[in-house]
Amino acid sequence: RHKSSSFIGLGRMGHEMAFNLFSKQYASNDNSHFVVCDAVPDSARAFCENFLGHFPGAKIAIATTPEEATLASQTVVTMLPSSPQVRSVYLEGILPVLRRLPSEQAGATICIDSTTLDVTVAREVSEKVISTGAEMVDAPVSGGVTGAKAGTLSFLVGGTEASFKRSESILGLMGQRIIYCGPSGSGLGAKICNNLVLGVQQIVVGEAMLLGKRLGLDPAILAGVINSSTGGCWASSVNNPVPFSLPGKSPPCQHDYEGGFATALMLKDMGLATDIGKQTKSPLPLGEVAESIYAQVIKEQPVLSRKDFSSVYQYLESKTN
Ligand code: NAD
Repeated sequence: RHKSSSFIGLGRMGHEMAFNLFSKQYASNDNSHFVVCDAVPDSARAFCENFLGHFPGAKIAIATTPEEATLASQTVVTMLPSSPQVRSVYLEGILPVLRRLPSEQAGATICIDSTTLDVTVAREVSEKVISTGAEMVDAPVSGGVTGAKAGTLSFLVGGTEASFKRSESILGLMGQRIIYCGPSGSGLGAKICNNLVLGVQQIVVGEAMLLGKRLGLDPAILAGVINSSTGGCWASSVNNPVPFSLPGKSPPCQHDYEGGFATALMLKDMGLATDIGKQTKSPLPLGEVAESIYAQVIKEQPVLSRKDFSSVYQYLESKTN
């Protein structure tokens, strides 16, 4: 098994993250071995072509299964859609391999899961991985595809302090801020709480901007007031849903809501928050309403599902037209 890395899940985020990870590892050791794996073989092939286009001499291989990817490397990074895929990749692929490996080799393995998924599932998976002697951290990200490409992601990490320290140097090749949040599941907990705030704020900013418009206010003036007053937040100052309300900026609303964080992903994250809210008996009345609003947006206007979640503004506007 090689010291360098396997990356499983080469979607919008994973492709960019793996590219940064491998290219920096390759820069420090051009004898490094890399392995990629995706349920869609074309995604793995496209990644290899892209990588070899930049680093023609690199040793990179496609694993057809997560088992193969785990057999190949001591570092295994996963970036999958959500809980069901993490469960199946780990419990049916990675874990059986770790159980079969000599304990010394299993112990040398670190699994880093950057998927945003259910905290309980993540804890269950990491407990099983750790029982083989391997290390595991949950390391969900904030920063989107742009941050993934630029290598400026923030990683919110949960696991033992020793595993965090080991993961830090790997995550540092893909991101800028690596934040230790506590034991297993804590990185995800922090990520889900943050996105709960974000999901609610984006809706209310849409409501306020629409109300202002109906009151005859210029959107740029209203956004300026909110952003220099107590209502200011990322949803109003960076991701404002009304075109040309932020002079000199170019949020997704100015590109027909393309290129941001998909409404479907926000709905998933709101669902993760309300699920864990129920499990922990934490009241999330606003989170529940926000979840149902995003669900309604997608049901009534399926085209908005993959557009930036600030398109909830468009949905609200269409309701009252
Ligand atoms: P994506 O759907 O583009 O990528 C997921 C990849 O995993 C796909 O290529 C898919 O084929 C692959 N996959 C699915 N099942 C698999 C399996 N069993 N084995 C191997 N590969 C499998 O999703 P994404 O946008 O890259 O997001 C990944 C994660 O990051 C999600 O949890 C998302 O919530 C989170 N996230 C995304 C963003 C964003 O802006 N896109 C931002 C922050 C966090």
